[in-house]
Amino acid sequence: MNKILVANRGEIALRIMKSAREMGIKTVAVYSDADRNSPHVKYADEAVHLGPPPSAQSYLLGDKIIAACKELNVDGIHPGYGFLSENGDFAQKVEEAGISFIGPKAHSMKVMGDKLAAKEAAREFGIPLVPGTEGAIEDPVEAMKICREIGFPVLIKASAGGGGKGMRIVEKEEDLEEQMHSAISEAKSAFGNGAVFIEKYVGSPRHIEVQVLCDSHGNRVHLFERECSVQRRHQKVIEEAPSAILSEELRMEMGQKAVDVARSCDYLGAGTVEFIMDESHNFYFMEMNTRLQVEHPVTEMITGIDLVKEQIRVARGEALSFSQEDLKIHGHSIEVRVYAENARENFMPDIGNLRVYKRPHGVGVRVDDGFEEGMDIPIYYDPMISKLVTYGKDREEARLRMLRAIDDYKIVGLHTTMEFARFVMRHEAFISGDFDTHFVNKHFKPEFLDAENSEEGADIAGMIVAKIMADNGKKAEVVNGTDKGPSNWKMKRL
Ligand code: ADP
Ligand code: ADP
Ligand code: MG
Repeated sequence: MNKILVANRGEIALRIMKSAREMGIKTVAVYSDADRNSPHVKYADEAVHLGPPPSAQSYLLGDKIIAACKELNVDGIHPGYGFLSENGDFAQKVEEAGISFIGPKAHSMKVMGDKLAAKEAAREFGIPLVPGTEGAIEDPVEAMKICREIGFPVLIKASAGGGGKGMRIVEKEEDLEEQMHSAISEAKSAFGNGAVFIEKYVGSPRHIEVQVLCDSHGNRVHLFERECSVQRRHQKVIEEAPSAILSEELRMEMGQKAVDVARSCDYLGAGTVEFIMDESHNFYFMEMNTRLQVEHPVTEMITGIDLVKEQIRVARGEALSFSQEDLKIHGHSIEVRVYAENARENFMPDIGNLRVYKRPHGVGVRVDDGFEEGMDIPIYYDPMISKLVTYGKDREEARLRMLRAIDDYKIVGLHTTMEFARFVMRHEAFISGDFDTHFVNKHFKPEFLDAENSEEGADIAGMIVAKIMADNGKKAEVVNGTDKGPSNWKMKRL
C-alpha cells in the first residue's frame, strides 16, 4: 500500500494520516467547502474537494471518493468513524474497484451494523444478551407480553440506530404503545429502517467495551476494555482504560466473549464489542462497532499499540505480530471528549469561533484535534473539537494529570465540555470508581460549574486582554466562555 485516501475530516483524519506517514505511505485528504482550510487538508500529500458542507453532498459521496482514488492511484481507503465507516455497500464498492477498504469485509459490517442481526449472530456463539425480543417487533400486544415478562423499565431500540440516537426508555405499561409507534416512525425517518426491538433496561448500567483485532490468518486478540460510562444523551463523553472495577478474571472472560463475537461474523481488522454491565457485574452484549472507535487512544496508551498501523497491516494481508500472551496493560489512561457544547444548557451544541486555542503539553498528555486558533467549528458535523487524553502509571496519576491538562488547555470563544470534565475528575463517584451511565443525572447540576468558573475567571480575563492586544487594529470585542454572540447552531435548531 503506497497511498491511502482518508474518507473523513477533523481529528480522526489527521490522526490516521500521522500513522500512515510514519509507515511511509502517502495520504490523500477529502474536504467540503466548510473544511477547505482545515489542518487535515494541509497535512495530506494531496487533497480532493468533494462539495458543499452538508455531509450528503460531501463526505457521504462514496462514488465520488472512489472515482478520486482511481484518478490518483490510491490503493487503500481508511473511513475513520461516522460518515461511510459502517456502510457495507460502500466497502463492497471499494473492493470491487480494486482498492482495499481498511476495515472488515462488507459481510461482517452488514451483520454487525444491524443490532438485531448482530444479536442473532452472537446468540449462536453463546454470548450473554440483554433479555428482550429476539427479533423486530411491531405488534403492541405482543410487545406488552414480553415487557411484562422482563419487567419495566424497558428500552425500545432502533436496529439501525447509532451515536446514542434511536432509543426510548419506557417506564410504565401505559406508555408502551405510544412509545412504540413513535420509535418506529422515528427509526424510519432517521435511519431509513423502521425495525425496532425491546431490551430490558439494565439498572445502574456501566458501558464497558472491548477492543478486538483480527487478521486474515485466523489470529484474533483482544486489547482489554474501555470504561465509557460517563455519558450524556446515551453518548460517551469521558472514557478510560482499564475499567476501575474489573477483576482480572472478569477482564479475561469479557475479552474472550468479545473475541467470540468477532469470530461470529468472521471479523477482520480493529473492532469494538460493546457490553452493558449490571450492578452484580453480569455483562451482556449490546452491539459491535465495525470501525475505529472515537476513544481508541486510551487503548493505545495502555498497550503501546498503534491501532491505525495495525488496521493498515491487516488490510495489507499481514499477520498480527503479537499474540494474546504478549499483550499487557501498562498504567492507566483517561480521555475527555472536548465538544463545543454548553453543559449548563443540557449539553446543547455551541458552535462558534476558536478565538483563543492553546493546547496543553507535557509528559503523559496527548491531544488529538483537527482545528487551529481562529477557526470556526462548523455547524454541519459532530461538534467535537478534540480528544484530550492523559496517561499515568496508575488511575490516580492519570486523573490528576487530566486536571492539570484541563487547566493548561485554553479555549475561548465557545463553551466546551472541559469544565464539566473538570467537575467529573474531582467528583467522589469518579474518584472511587463507583459510577454508572446515569452519572450526569445523578451527580451533575449546572450550578456546580460556577465555583469552577470563578477560579478560572482571572486567568481567562488575562487571555482576553492578550488576545485583544494581539488583534490590534481589529475591533476590540470581549469574548469569553459565557459572554458571546448567538450561536448559528442554536438559531438553526430553533
Ligand atoms: P463511538 O461509538 O466511537 O464511541 P460515537 O457514538 O460518538 O462514538 O460515534 C462516533 C461518530 O459516528 C459520531 O460522529 C456519531 O455521530 C457517528 N455515528 C455513529 N453511529 C452513527 C449512525 N448510525 N448514523 C450516523 N452517525 C453515526
Ligand atoms: P449506539 O449504537 O447508539 O451506540 P448502544 O446500543 O451502544 O447504541 O447503546 C448506547 C448507550 O445506551 C449505552 O452505552 C448505554 O448507556 C445505553 N443503553 C443501551 N442499551 C441499554 C440497556 N439495555 N440498558 C441500559 N442502558 C442501555
Ligand atoms: Mg454503542
